[in-house]
Amino acid sequence: MAKYIGAHVSASGGVQNAPKNAHDIGATAFALFTKNQRQWTSAPFSDAEIEAFKNNCKTYGYSAAQILPHDSYLINLGNPTEDGRNKSLASFIHEMKRCEALGLTMLNFHPGSHLKAISEADCLKRIADGINEALQQTTGVTAVIENTAGQGTNLGFRFEHLRQIIDLVDDKTRVGVCIDTCHLFAAGYDIRTPEAYISTMKEFDDIVGVQYLKAMHLNDAKKELGSHVDRHESIGAGAIGQEAFKLLVRDERTNNIPLILETPNEELWPAEIALLKSFEQ
Ligand code: ZN
Ligand code: MN
Ligand code: MN
Repeated sequence: MAKYIGAHVSASGGVQNAPKNAHDIGATAFALFTKNQRQWTSAPFSDAEIEAFKNNCKTYGYSAAQILPHDSYLINLGNPTEDGRNKSLASFIHEMKRCEALGLTMLNFHPGSHLKAISEADCLKRIADGINEALQQTTGVTAVIENTAGQGTNLGFRFEHLRQIIDLVDDKTRVGVCIDTCHLFAAGYDIRTPEAYISTMKEFDDIVGVQYLKAMHLNDAKKELGSHVDRHESIGAGAIGQEAFKLLVRDERTNNIPLILETPNEELWPAEIALLKSFEQ
């Protein structure tokens, strides 16, 4: 039983640099963008890049189970316009194929936004259709849906949204969920006390199913419970507080999945990782 704890590290200069960046902060897991996250597409990886990435993962001891790639923020699989939807889907498939090329097994993404032009149900259906299309065109990569804070018209802030998407995905073995603790708290799910933590996790299990929990983003929150504002804070310095992260690290349901910091002060990452590791019993 292992805890995989790390952060979303830089892949500046190429994906092959991410494993060393993770190693340098004492991480046993990491997240990365496999391309510029502000662009729709990118040149395919060269064989040399793929080999360097795989070699560095081996050198620093990271298996695919410890690595959680994140897709571009431009992608909205629920986009109500035909153009926007096609562009998003093509880019999402491109990202899935990049993960496949690197030998990675997950792609973390935000479900999508209805932009006030379609209903929640229609938007969730578009997202699920997009996932189905991407899964058909790739092999070995699981689509890992992240819960959201519910800022703007983003869906995925209720466990029911995640359930509705999963219900419409054909291959249930290749769909999963990443719970972001800041987004969870901003969406109104409390985890600050043992009672609140247990009840929120039970609700997740009842509605989504804990077998779909494939990763977590560990972020404290700048704003209060139910704010719907997506502003991350360093662990213990926000409205969630340190106790929740202790409960989470000690929860056996978080074994063997990437637990990734996306906290704002990178200089604190080594200390935050050490703190989280110290919570292991
Ligand atoms: Zn995310
Ligand atoms: Mn996140
Ligand atoms: Mn966020």
